[in-house]
Amino acid sequence: MYDITSKISFIMQKKKDKILELKNDKDKLKRKMYLSFLSFAIPFLWIIQYMERFIPSFTGSSKLFPDIKPIDYIALLLTVTAAMFLYFYTQRYIKTKGKFDTLRHSIMDDIGSMICNCHEQCTCREDFIKEMDEKGIDLIMR
Ligand SMILES: [Zn+2]
Repeated sequence: MYDITSKISFIMQKKKDKILELKNDKDKLKRKMYLSFLSFAIPFLWIIQYMERFIPSFTGSSKLFPDIKPIDYIALLLTVTAAMFLYFYTQRYIKTKGKFDTLRHSIMDDIGSMICNCHEQCTCREDFIKEMDEKGIDLIMR
């Protein structure tokens, strides 16, 4: 939203709003990524624990997996489902992180020149960098 009372230029305000939005998306995706990793890891560890029940038997028994239990099927289903979510969120995270860094670098290039409408010495640049830093966006390190 354009704040008419701010001395920061319109384009910089737009970029600021966009980068805050991207950061929010990125943080949400990161949380979803961790959650889907946990949802993957727990049933996966179960499978590792009872690995021998997942080994097919080609002798005697008419069943290919004579030792497998219903809970093992559930663990398998959960592992596959969680792995799909993990893949999906990771891809989206990488994409959002890429956009976020591109915009962050673009803002870093912009703050080297004019970012405000002041005509005399001012602290807009410092204030802007500090404000963004407080919001978790580093404009100093590439
Ligand atoms: Zn200024």
